[in-house]
Amino acid sequence: MERTIFHKIVDRQIPASVVYETPDVLAFKDINPKAPTHLVFIAKKEKDFVASITDLTEDTAHVPGLLICAAQKFAKEKGIGGYKLTFHCGKGGGQEVWYLHLHFLSQEAVQL
Ligand code: 5GP
Repeated sequence: MERTIFHKIVDRQIPASVVYETPDVLAFKDINPKAPTHLVFIAKKEKDFVASITDLTEDTAHVPGLLICAAQKFAKEKGIGGYKLTFHCGKGGGQEVWYLHLHFLSQEAVQL
């Protein structure tokens, strides 16, 4: 399996501005933000790795829910009232990094 930039962020081999972390999930600032608050949520555990929504199986079907719940919890903790959650699914959906991730975008700028 090819190791992506997000594998290296999980392993702390390359730096990222981490804003939220649990044993299962990591969230960090997107390097090229498309909104005042633009974060990326990923699953940390090897067993939860899946390259894309287009590759989901029964074994990994829980992963999108894990990421959405983490994003919702994060937003509540930070007092962010409104946000957009998106998955880019495959090349035609604009996906560039082959490590399933949830984009969290908000017009609310918060100190992170
Ligand atoms: P995709 O289009 O695959 O859904 O989104 C990948 C996202 O990852 C893009 O928004 C891009 O800006 C972000 N990204 C790519 N490389 C890095 C990196 O090295 N660090 C961080 N923080 N974000 C990255």
